Amino acid sequence: MINLSIFQKTLLTPVVGILLYSSYLFYLHGEHKSNSETILFLRDNYLPVMQIANDNKDIFEHIASGFKDAVSAEEKQWLKENEVLKEQLRLNLNSLRRYSRLIDTERLEILQETFDRYYKVSNDLSLSFIDDIGTSEHRNILIEQSSNHHTLVARLLIEFEDDIQNQFSSRINDSIEKMEKLLMLGVFMLIFLLMIVMALTFFMSLSTRRRLRDLIVPLKDMASEKPDFSFRLTHNLNDELGELTHWFNVLTRKMEKDYKKIEMLSNTDKLTQLYNRTMLDSILEGAVSNAIRYNQAFSIILMDLDKFKLVNDTYGHIVGDSVLQKMAEILRQHVRSSDSVGRWGGEEFLVILPNTTKDGAVKLAEKLRKIFAEYKFEKVGQKTVSFGVASYRPGDDADSFLTRADKCLYHAKAAGRNCVTDEDALVE
Ligand code: GH3
Ligand code: MG
Ligand code: MG
Repeated sequence: MINLSIFQKTLLTPVVGILLYSSYLFYLHGEHKSNSETILFLRDNYLPVMQIANDNKDIFEHIASGFKDAVSAEEKQWLKENEVLKEQLRLNLNSLRRYSRLIDTERLEILQETFDRYYKVSNDLSLSFIDDIGTSEHRNILIEQSSNHHTLVARLLIEFEDDIQNQFSSRINDSIEKMEKLLMLGVFMLIFLLMIVMALTFFMSLSTRRRLRDLIVPLKDMASEKPDFSFRLTHNLNDELGELTHWFNVLTRKMEKDYKKIEMLSNTDKLTQLYNRTMLDSILEGAVSNAIRYNQAFSIILMDLDKFKLVNDTYGHIVGDSVLQKMAEILRQHVRSSDSVGRWGGEEFLVILPNTTKDGAVKLAEKLRKIFAEYKFEKVGQKTVSFGVASYRPGDDADSFLTRADKCLYHAKAAGRNCVTDEDALVE
């Protein structure tokens, strides 16, 4: 089941159903064949036996009336006809011996013997009347014996016929009952199979739907404003959906990597590898909202290289670029990981310092100022930098905050450059 494709699984249920039902039909065919054989057996055995049993009754009646006719007509002719009938009855009883599977042959012996006794007594009685021999007492004994034997033979013949008929009906009823049971079994089997097929189809559809939903949820997330490519799905089955899940994971892994790369490129300044202006804007917006929400101290440092135009004019742009790159490297080394540093534009850089008071920011600016002033840039030598420091005040937005930092920087330039100016200087 695990390694079957969805196509194979879809086919599996009807195939299982067909196979199971075919095996039932096969079984039904076997049962039907044996039932047909039983019916043929009944037809070929019981019908002739019942026919003979019935004939025997008729022959016996004819013999009985033959004796009566012989006595009343006083003619032996009737007795001769009775001989033929007696022979006929004997042949019939003999032929019944062939059906030993249905008949107890001992019964036939008893019947034959009883009939022979009856026949002998009745024949003797008829002769005694026709030939007028024997005493009346003797005749009376014969009459009584004949009557007794007649009753006995008639009863045996009827019992024999009834017994055969009962056997026949009971075996026919058994066959009918068996066929009805088979039919009912077929109906139950069909219902049972339909239920199995339905249950299998239901659970398969349920599992496929759940697995499809597992894919839809992250896909929706990936199509949203802030896409999340970190989703990875587990795929235990090797069917088409398992394959789809595998490639979904491959794709999201690649997209996550590419997206990070694009994000990084769109946030980074190409020359210095620091944050660009767009990223600084967004960080500043976030820092301002945090400062408002948590009422935290928060400061920024805006810096600008002094007389940088001279560097370009004297050594060319390429050297100017290398100065900017070195400056970026120094900045990166001296700010904390929780701080953000970026190129604000041209030769201006901005440092965003969350959780930092004005004093803390001024200290850092002063430290940086000294580092830059003492550093000897290749070819260019020492270059100074001017700093403007602003701290967040309630009611500030990013623009007003930056404008204050810019004013401080302007003030630092005006104060002779290579210095740090904070908002206190603006008040004075
Ligand atoms: P000040 O002390 O008043 O800041 O003087 P300054 O010369 O630094 O100021 P100004 O704004 O006049 O000049 C800034 C110069 O920075 C102008 C431009 O040539 C240079 N610049 C801006 N961006 C780049 C850059 O990406 N690479 C290089 N090499 N130079 C740049
Ligand atoms: Mg400038
Ligand atoms: Mg400058």
